[in-house]
Amino acid sequence: MAKEEVKVLIIGSGPAGYTAAIYAARAGLKPVLYTGGQPGGQLTTTNDVENFPGYPNGINGSEMMIDLQKQAERFGTQVRYGLVTSVDFNCYPHKVVVDEKDEIHAESVIISTGATAKYLGLPSEDKYANRGVSACAVCDGYFYRGKAVAVVGAGDSAAEEATYLANLCTKVHLIVRRSEMRASKIMQKRVMNTANIEIHWDTETEEVLGDDNGVTGVRIVNNKTGEKKVLPLEGFFLAIGHKPNTDIFKEYIEMDETGYIKVQPGSTKTNVAGVFAVGDAADKVYRQAITAAGTGCMGALDAEKFLVAREMERALVNG
Ligand SMILES: Cc1cc2nc3c(=O)[nH]c(=O)nc-3n(C[C@H](O)[C@H](O)[C@H](O)COP(=O)(O)OP(=O)(O)OC[C@H]3O[C@@H](n4cnc5c(N)ncnc54)[C@H](O)[C@@H]3O)c2cc1C
Repeated sequence: MAKEEVKVLIIGSGPAGYTAAIYAARAGLKPVLYTGGQPGGQLTTTNDVENFPGYPNGINGSEMMIDLQKQAERFGTQVRYGLVTSVDFNCYPHKVVVDEKDEIHAESVIISTGATAKYLGLPSEDKYANRGVSACAVCDGYFYRGKAVAVVGAGDSAAEEATYLANLCTKVHLIVRRSEMRASKIMQKRVMNTANIEIHWDTETEEVLGDDNGVTGVRIVNNKTGEKKVLPLEGFFLAIGHKPNTDIFKEYIEMDETGYIKVQPGSTKTNVAGVFAVGDAADKVYRQAITAAGTGCMGALDAEKFLVAREMERALVNG
């Protein structure tokens, strides 16, 4: 097993990880970044990013992430292809194992492993991904303005996404599996008081329908009566939750019940000294590239302060 010592180890290559890398590299901390199984992160699965500041004509998600990688490398970040398979945060420097073989001893660790949106698992969702199927209303809703869409889900996120889309779209079909919603009473009231949202209770999606141009409709089935219906629409939004990619840290890092890492308010500090969490792995509210990048910057600055404080302590002890 190869062993190596690094000052700043960044786990994940989305907007949060690369932004942390840019800041840490420019502070002279020689960060090492592991990309994980999805180099570039979630944005590599989308064609058009129109809401990241600085791109007046929008940008392809993969191109944007290649630019971020180049920017991080320009200042000396070592970007490596590899998956962190286990960690030990009980020792210091923190131990991080990559691909089950390489051992890194890191003075600080920035976790930027993101989150994964949940889908229903229908083959037609895959078929029309990026062509009408989306798991992010704030990201993609604008593309469906003046059109009919559907939202699947029954929690607060589904209620929020439905009301957000109702402002842009002619009609929002909210597909709810049960005969009630899990969303808070206030959010349910908002949904029910929005004229262009129609709720389909006890209803499941059988298939997303489409043609060469993308989604054209959805076939739904009432799970009590068996009645089937086709809703004509162009956007199909999933709002059934996300899973943060944080399982490997759960023995050491405090998380909420769904696996989002808890950070101290206004900072990226976790419960373990020298371990910071940024981006979607610690954010179940905003989940945007720009907020991920913002907290990535915070993570690098927090790590830098932590390392400086340790240096000063060491200097004091050594006289
Ligand atoms: C289809 C789609 C379209 C979107 N469109 C937009 C948009 O238009 N605008 C917008 O602002 N946001 C958009 N988003 C949301 C945006 O992509 C996320 O908010 C953002 O990517 C989160 O960044 P992140 O750096 O926290 O994590 P992610 O982008 O999720 O990246 C996580 C990284 O961690 C790595 N990783 C995970 N586990 C490990 C491990 N064990 N070891 C090493 N690495 C690991 C992964 O390989 C990946 O590189 C979209 C999301 C999706 C899915």
